[in-house]
This record gives sequence, structure tokens and C-alpha cells, in this order.
Amino acid sequence: MNTKYIEIELENTLKKLNDIEFALNQSSIVAITDRRGIINFVNDMFCEISKYSREELLGQDHSILNSGYHSNTFFRNMWKTIGSGNVWKGEIKNKAKDGTFYWVYTTIVPFLDDQGKPYQYVSIRYDITHRKIMEKEIHQLAFYDPLTKLPNRTSLDKHLKYILSNKTSSNQIAILFLDLDRFKSINDTLGHATGDALLKQVGQRLKDSVRAIDFVSRQGGDEFIIVLEDIHERQEITAVANRIIETLSSPFYIQDEKIFTSTSIGISEVSLSDMQKNSEAKLETIIEQLTKEADIAMYHAKNMGGGTYQFHTSALNKKMTRYLRLENQLRQALENEEFSVVYQPLVNLVNHTTVGVEALLRWNNPIFGEVAPSEFIPILEETGLIIPIGKWVLRQACKQMKLWKDDGIPLSRVAVNLSPRQFLNSYLINDITQILQDTPLEPKCLELEITESMVLDIKRTTSVLKQLKDLGITISVDDFGTGYSSLSYLKHLPIDNLKIDKSFIQSVNQDGEIMVKTIIDIGKNLNFNIIAEGIETKEQLSILKTGGCHIGQGYLFSHPLPAHLLPSYLNETLLNTIV
Ligand code: C2E
Ligand code: MG
Ligand code: MG
Repeated sequence: MNTKYIEIELENTLKKLNDIEFALNQSSIVAITDRRGIINFVNDMFCEISKYSREELLGQDHSILNSGYHSNTFFRNMWKTIGSGNVWKGEIKNKAKDGTFYWVYTTIVPFLDDQGKPYQYVSIRYDITHRKIMEKEIHQLAFYDPLTKLPNRTSLDKHLKYILSNKTSSNQIAILFLDLDRFKSINDTLGHATGDALLKQVGQRLKDSVRAIDFVSRQGGDEFIIVLEDIHERQEITAVANRIIETLSSPFYIQDEKIFTSTSIGISEVSLSDMQKNSEAKLETIIEQLTKEADIAMYHAKNMGGGTYQFHTSALNKKMTRYLRLENQLRQALENEEFSVVYQPLVNLVNHTTVGVEALLRWNNPIFGEVAPSEFIPILEETGLIIPIGKWVLRQACKQMKLWKDDGIPLSRVAVNLSPRQFLNSYLINDITQILQDTPLEPKCLELEITESMVLDIKRTTSVLKQLKDLGITISVDDFGTGYSSLSYLKHLPIDNLKIDKSFIQSVNQDGEIMVKTIIDIGKNLNFNIIAEGIETKEQLSILKTGGCHIGQGYLFSHPLPAHLLPSYLNETLLNTIV
């Protein structure tokens, strides 16, 4: 937000109010005092606003109206001016007889004797109480969040500028960027009134968790920023972060409702002694950078599951910058035809014939070149882009399979990876049915690979898998062994194949042999077909074969291939097996 804009706006509004005030207020409040300040004359307006009668005022010291608002220096300066025969103008807050306060814009004119010394003072005032109230309201609106009454973004900006340019201490300052975890679902399920009440209480708890010199502000939504000043060691920051996490983790009570929340905190730091004398523009850049860094760190704290804090590091910054740039590119990648699908043969380990292929997505971007799926697939998943792109992969794979079938290529099925987001998507079954119809491809030629993490919600998984099975599709659990599911758990689900993760296959040379053989044994007893992935050496192959695993894929047989190279690969391997 642009602070200058608000300040100028504020100033203009006040000027206008002033003009209106003076135009409307024809009646002046007049008093005359002697040189010591004893009241000699008041007009009716003076009595009206001060709520004293004329009799009560005459002969009294003018200080009877003092509100206690102004400092001694304020009055000393005023007396210095009028005492030396000059006119004084200013705004004064006075107290009326009934204890209420009013503001007057005052002009005091000294009347001078022969020697040029004041012998009496005439004061003319205008009531500006209304304007003062408005001014306070405008100030409140411009600099405070109406809900939590905490300073807002503009105030934070001013505050940071002040401490960064005045270097009130030579120590560190820390910026804590907080975002409540799952606030949106609280708001959605319990309503906005409850959400608002929660934010108010959170604001209060935050204020209670820091020292008086620390600055707690609300950025908007469920985001808060805290500035810690005069920090000597990191441990002081972590202590505050831990205190905040703890205080926000105890329940909130809102209208008989017990609500739990937690927060993710990102932290950036700056050492004030490193600061040079900075221009206003430079300060703005520094503040923007610090806030951005804390925001990035907060995002990482969220990714770790929330309820924790993360310090910003330059490594995080690089990672985040790359992430955001990749995301930007990914948004147009489908339209720009930057994706392709490659196919890795699934091989019968005994006779080396190819039984099927796994479709694997590839991304070639003009700026980043070939990006590894392990890097871009999680971004597609987090942004939801996996839904349209995953659908595109499915359609490509089915179309290709149909072409191969029509050409008499001896492949029995194509396996396509499903991401968790796709698996939970309510259109999944419809989309797949549609694609199979459009292609048209027999459902038994399609295999879907899911991962263990997707099957944890047993009710939902069972229902989705059953629908897929009813269509006639084969189901595999990919990367088996890296998740949390046990074989006995999986046996209740309509699953055909288990693909043992490549990390197990690659450990067989060391001590993993027994483990792999055990997985194969139990899997077979539970009637799963076992597929091994990541077979790179002959040794691995022979262990798998003796263990009783008959299907696998890996660089030993073939890397993933573009569709047009597959027929020649198949021909070659066929020749080899015949020879
Ligand atoms: P995945 O489904 O487990 O695929 C197997 C991965 O192992 C592939 O990596 C493949 O290239 C690699 N691989 C095959 N043989 C060997 C080997 O002998 N040694 C080693 N070290 N690796 C081997 P890729 O293509 O980089 O894909 C990585 C992961 O990205 C896939 O793992 C899958 O989870 C995901 N993925 C790829 N394409 C898609 C897609 O279209 N949709 C979704 N949701 N995920 C995909
Ligand atoms: Mg796979
Ligand atoms: Mg895998």
C-alpha cells in the first residue's frame, strides 16, 4: 500500500474540514484576561461551550479550563509568545465545567501599554471539536485495522522505516510473518462472525506474547506481522516464535464453540549495524525484501505441515524463486505444447518380452529446458494444474495405445500415473470413461498407478477403486514400501499389482535382498502381482527372478522412450529372445 497517498488524502480532507468549519462557525468565542491570565470578560458563546456561568468565570484564573492534555512546554511557549507582545495561534483542548472536553482553534492578541508591555489578552476561539473527532477517526482508519484494532500495513511500513532509518539500537531486528493454518476452513464451516472473533482473540494473544517495544500488526486476512526490536541472539527470536505457537495452540472459546488453530511463522532478520544511511526509496526496497523473505519462510513452515517456524535462508530464496518461475511457465505449458509422454517398457523378467509400458510425462520448456518430473510434478500437484495436465496424459497414453494396437504391436497395456489430487477429483471416473470411449480403447488395456498415500482414506478409496475396477481397468500401487500402508491393509482393496519401489531394488546388493524377497513372498500370498521398478543391473535381475518376481522395468532393459522408438525396440528385443 502506498503510504504517501494516504497521508496526502488525510491532509486534504482535514483542510477541507477546516474550511467548512470556519464557514459554518460564524460565532466566535471571546474572552479577555489581564496580563496574569485572570478572566475579565467572556461572551455568551464562551459560557455556552465551557458550561460555566459568567459569574463563575469572571475573576477566575484562565487555567480553570485546563484539560491536562497539553504539556508544560506547550503553555510556556504560548506565554513566551504573547508575553513578548506577539499574536499566538494554535489548537487547544479545554475542559468544560461538567468534565467533558472540547477543542478550540485559538488566536490570542496581546494589548500593549505605553511601554510596549501586554496589559491584557483578547482571545478569539472557534469550536473545532467535531473536526478533531473526525481527524482521530480518519487516523484510526488509515493506520489501524478496524477488526483487531492492531496497527495495519501502513503503520507497519512507517514503523519499519522509522526503526531502519533511526537505528534506535545497533542490534538485530526480526520480522515474523504469521499465517493461521486452516483459517479458511474455520471461516467456511463456522461462519465469518466466528472467523472475525477468532482473529480478534489471536491479535490479543499475539500482543500478550511479545514485549512492549515489539510491534504487532495485521496485514489482512489471517496474516499478521510482528517486528521484534533490539535482538541480540537468535535464541531470543525462537523463544518468541515458540511462545506464539504455544499460545495459539490452546483452544479459543467463541460462542460456546471450542476452536483449535495453529500458525506457521516465517522469520527474516536484519542487523541494524549493517545498515547504511538509506534513501526513502531504498528503505522501501529493503522493507519489501524483508517482508518477502519472511513470507517465503512462512510458506516453507506451512509446507512442513504448519504449527512451526522457519528462518529465511538464501537457499530458500533460490528455491522459491525457481519454484515461482517454474509455476509461471507451467501455466502456459499445455497450451504451448511443451509436454510430451514417453513410454518405459514393462518386461517379463523370464523371457524378456515386453508386456506393457508405463507412460511418463516430460516437460521441455524454452527457458528451463528439460525439467525433471520429480521437480515439476509436485508443482502441478500443489497448484491443481495436474487435473487438466493429468487428463491430457491419460488421453495421450490411451490414444497411443490404440494406435499401437491397430498397428498390431504386441503390447497388452499402458500404465498411467495418477496423482493424489486427480484421484480425489470427482470427475475422475467420468473423465476416464469419456477418454476410453473417445479413443476408443478397451479398458483392460489401461492400468492406473496410484500411491500408498492415496489409499489412507479407506472408505473413499474403496469406492473410487471399485468404480475403476468395474470399468475393467487394472490398478497398481506404485512406489510400494515408501509409504505407510501395510500389505495386510492393502489386501482389503481391489488392487491388482504392487510395484516395489526402486530404492528397495537398488539396495539388494547390500542388505536389501531379504527384504525384497519377503515383500515378494507376502505380496504373492495376498494374490498381488509383483512388479519391480528401477532394475539397473544383472545382479538385481537375478535376485528378483529367484525371488519369484516376474515383471519389471528399468534402465537394464530400456530407458523411457518416445512413442515412435518403441516399435523398433520391441523388434530388437523380440529378435534377441528368439536368437
Ligand atoms: P514412477 O511412477 O515411480 O516412475 C518411475 C520413475 O523411475 C521414472 O522417473 C523412470 O524414468 C525412473 N526409472 C525407470 N527405470 C529406472 C532405473 O533403472 N533406475 C532409476 N534410477 N530410475 C528409473 P521419472 O520419469 O523421472 O518420473 C518420476 C516420477 O514422476 C514418477 O515415478 C511418477 O511418480 C511421476 N510422474 C511421471 N509422469 C507422471 C504423470 O504423467 N502423472 C503423474 N501424476 N505423475 C507422473
Ligand atoms: Mg509410476
Ligand atoms: Mg514408482
